[in-house]
Amino acid sequence: MITVKNLKKQFGDNVVLDGIDVHVDQGEVLAIIGPSGSGKSTFLRCLNLLEKPDEGLIQIADTKVDVKKMNAKEMHQLRQKTAMVFQHYNLFKNKTALENVTESLIIAKKMKRQEAEDIGKELLVKVGLKDQFYQYPVTLSGGQQQRVGIARALAVKPRAILFDEPTSALDPEWVSEVLQVIKDIAQLKTTMIIVTHEMQFAEEVADRVIFMADGSIVEQNNPKEMFNRPQSPRTQQFLNKIG
Ligand code: ADP
Ligand code: MG
Repeated sequence: MITVKNLKKQFGDNVVLDGIDVHVDQGEVLAIIGPSGSGKSTFLRCLNLLEKPDEGLIQIADTKVDVKKMNAKEMHQLRQKTAMVFQHYNLFKNKTALENVTESLIIAKKMKRQEAEDIGKELLVKVGLKDQFYQYPVTLSGGQQQRVGIARALAVKPRAILFDEPTSALDPEWVSEVLQVIKDIAQLKTTMIIVTHEMQFAEEVADRVIFMADGSIVEQNNPKEMFNRPQSPRTQQFLNKIG
C-alpha cells in the first residue's frame, strides 16, 4: 500500500530525514516511536506533501512519484491518498462538528450537501458523537475535538490514515476514548501509520513498530519483540527512559 524509498529532507543544514525506507502493507498498522526531534512528524508531513521532501520515491496505492520530478497532478493524486490526524486537531473554529467533517466532501469532492451530511453524521456516530453534530469546537472537550478530527480524516475515504501523536495534546481523562476510536478503526483493516508516545497503545494496536532517531530508522519489529527485546542500545535507552 505504501512504499517509501530513500526519503530525504533537510531544513537548512539540519538533516531531518536521512534516507528513510518504509513499506506498509494494505491493512497494516505501523506505529512510529522515537525521541522528540527525531523527524517523525516531518516523515508523516512528507508522505502527505505538507512538506516537500528533497529526495526519494513515494508510492501510495497506485500513485508513484519521484519527489524530485513530480508535477502538480502527481502531487494532487498523492495527497488524495492519505488523510492526517493532527496533534492539535486543526479544526475550523467557526464550523460545527458536522461542517468540519463535510467541508472537504463538499468543497474538494464536489459532493451534494445532503449526501455529505449523511456521510458526516454516520461518521460522527461512529466516533461516538451522535449528540454533537451542531456543536462548535470550543464547546467540545479535547477528546471530542480529536474524534471530530478522526471522522474528518475518514470522510475522504483515504487509502491510509496518518496519525501524528493524536493524544499528546489531550488531558489524561480524554486519552482512552480517542485511543479506543483508533483501535476500532484499526479493526476494520484500515492502513494506518501512527506516531505515538503511548507505548502500551502501540503494543496493542500495531502490527509493527519502528523506532526512529536522528532522522533514521534504527530498528523495526513486531511490538512484542520491540518492547520486550529491543536490539539496539539506542532503542533500549529510549524505552528504559520512558518506561
Ligand atoms: P518529531 O516529530 O520526531 O519530534 P519533527 O519532525 O517535528 O520531529 O522535527 C525534526 C527536526 O526538524 C527538528 O529539529 C525540528 O526543529 C526540525 N523542523 C521541523 N519542521 C521544521 C520547519 N518547518 N522548519 C525548520 N525546521 C523544522
Ligand atoms: Mg512530532
